[in-house]
Amino acid sequence: MSELEFFGHIIDNEEVESIDGKRFDVWNPYTREVWAQAAEGSAQDADRAITSARTAFDEGPWPRMGRNERAKMIHKLADLMEERTTEIATLDTKNMAKPFEQAKHDVARSVWNFRFFADHQRDHVGEVYPMDSGHHTYSEFGPAGVVAAISPWNFPLMMASWKIAPAIAWGNTCIIKPSEDTPSSVTYLGRLAVEAGFPPGVLNVLNGYGHPAGSSITGDDRVDRVTFTGSSTTGKMVMASAATHLAPVSLELGGKGANIVFEDADIDNAVYWAVEAIFRNAGQICLAGSRLFVHSSIYDDFMAKFKAAAEALPIGDPFDPNVKFAGALASKRHFEKVVSYVEGAKDLGGHFHTGGVATDGSWSVTPTIIDGLALDAAPYCEEIFGPVCIVNKFETEEEAVHLANDTRYGLNAMLFTENLSRAHRVASNLRAGTVWVNCFFIRDLRTPFGGVGDSGVGREGGNFSREFFTEPKAVVMQIRR
Ligand code: NAD
Repeated sequence: MSELEFFGHIIDNEEVESIDGKRFDVWNPYTREVWAQAAEGSAQDADRAITSARTAFDEGPWPRMGRNERAKMIHKLADLMEERTTEIATLDTKNMAKPFEQAKHDVARSVWNFRFFADHQRDHVGEVYPMDSGHHTYSEFGPAGVVAAISPWNFPLMMASWKIAPAIAWGNTCIIKPSEDTPSSVTYLGRLAVEAGFPPGVLNVLNGYGHPAGSSITGDDRVDRVTFTGSSTTGKMVMASAATHLAPVSLELGGKGANIVFEDADIDNAVYWAVEAIFRNAGQICLAGSRLFVHSSIYDDFMAKFKAAAEALPIGDPFDPNVKFAGALASKRHFEKVVSYVEGAKDLGGHFHTGGVATDGSWSVTPTIIDGLALDAAPYCEEIFGPVCIVNKFETEEEAVHLANDTRYGLNAMLFTENLSRAHRVASNLRAGTVWVNCFFIRDLRTPFGGVGDSGVGREGGNFSREFFTEPKAVVMQIRR
C-alpha cells in the first residue's frame, strides 16, 4: 500500500486527509490496477472546505485585490501548469486512460482557460448610461461569493479549469469537487495554486463521492453559486439541492450530438470529423457526434470511408504516441455501461458495420458503427458516452433537421455542406447550444457554451461567465439636480 500515490483534500492551502481518515482507491483503467488513493470527503470535510472558502471570501485579500494583481497570480498558476505539463498529463492518462498526447493538449487548453479569464476580468468594460433625468447609471460586476464547482471524469483537468478559472478570476473563492474516478490532476492543480502564492481558501479541492462530498457543498447555504458538469440525472439533483438555498446554478449536462452530412459535403472532411467527433477520447465527450445522419445519395460511399477510418485507429497503451483514440474506457463501471448498450443494439437488430467488441481484456470497446436501429431504440436515444456511432439515412434537409432536433438533449450539432445558404439556414434551425459547420470541437472562449433541454441550464464563456460568477449591480448617480 505504501507505494501508492496519495491525493488529499486541499483546504486552506494544506493538503490533508479526511477527518475520519477514510480513503478510496484510484484505478488505472488501462492496466486495471490501483495506482493511488484519495481522501474520501465526508460532510465534515465539506464543512471545513466551505468554512475556508467563506472566510477567504469574507475576510481575505482575494476579492479585494486589484484586478491586475489577481490576473498576475492566475497567470503565475498558468505558468506553473505549463511547466508541469508532462506531470499533469501523466496523471490524467494514468487516471482515465486518456491518450497522453491528448492529455497534454488538455493541459494546454486548461492553461488557456486560466489565461483567458484572468485577462477577461482585468480588461472588461463596464457600461455607463447617461439618463435624461440628470443621472448616470452604471453596472458593477462584483464577485458573487463562494462557488461550489463539481466536475466529471472525461476531461478531468479541463472541465475543472473551465469552472475554477472564471470563478476565481472574478474574485470568488472556490471549492472544486472532482469526480471520484479522477481526483489526481485537480488535486495537483490545487498544489500548484499553493505554489503560485494564492491566499489560503481561494481554491479548495474536496475529494470524494457525489454523496456526501458533492451534495454537502451544493446544499450548503454559505455557498453562493453552484456550477456543475456531469450527467443530466445528477444535474437535476444538484439543481434541487442548490434550490434549497436559492443558489443560482450553471449546469453543463449530457448530450446526444447530431452530425448531419449533406449530399454536397466534402466527404473526406466529413469523414475526418465524424471520426474525431465519436472516437476522440473513446467517445467519452458530452459533445460527441453520436447520432450521424447521412444523405442517402452518398450513404454507401460515406460509410465505406467512415468504417475504414474507424478500423485504422490504433487502440492500446495510452502512453504510446501512436494511440490517439479509443483507448480503454475510464472505469469498469463505465465499460459495463457501454457494453450493455452495445449488447442492447445487437438484441434490437442493429447492423454493425464495425466494432462492438470488448478488446484484449482491458476495459475497451472497439470503435463501433451501427445502423438499422429504430428511432426509439435506447442506444439511439440515450447517451452512451462511448465509441459508438448510430447512423441513419435521410432524404431532405427538413427531414435531417427534424431528426437532429428530435431528442431531449440539445448540446451541440454538426453539419457538413458546401452550400453556404444551407449552412446558415440549418445552423439556425438546429436546437443546440453549439453548431459546428464543416468542423468539430473548435471553441472560442468568448462565445456562449451550454445546452438546451436535458443538456443544461445557463451558458458560460466570456461575458456569460461574468454574469454567472458575479453579482451584477446597477449604481445610479445623480449628476445634476
Ligand atoms: P456524473 O453526473 O455521474 O458525475 C459528475 C460529478 O457529479 C462527479 O464529480 C460526481 O461525484 C458528482 N456527483 C454525483 N452525485 C452528486 C450529487 N448528488 N451531488 C453533487 N455532486 C454529485 O457524471 P460523470 O459520469 O462524471 O460524467 C459524464 C457526464 O458528464 C456525461 O453525461 C457527459 O455528457 C457530461 N458532461 C457534460 C459536459 C458539458 O459541457 N455539457 C462536459 C463533460 C461531461
